[in-house]
Amino acid sequence: MKPVYVCSRCDAEISRTAEECPHCGYNPTSIAWRFGAGALIFGAALALVSPPVGLFGVFVGIIAIGGSYLLSPAE
Ligand SMILES: [Zn+2]
Repeated sequence: MKPVYVCSRCDAEISRTAEECPHCGYNPTSIAWRFGAGALIFGAALALVSPPVGLFGVFVGIIAIGGSYLLSPAE
């Protein structure tokens, strides 16, 4: 696997150890992680009212957080 990945906003190569793109400041890991954490918390709260919808939110959150680690294992 290459030690760098390409910024999806400006196409610059970013080190896997970098927390955000040094060229434009874009941080795909952080965005995916925050989205996942938000979906996880929202889903957990919603599960108390509507379990099928809430559990789906928790599921989406886990996938998003897992995906953010795949994008940047060094995080
Ligand atoms: Zn960039």
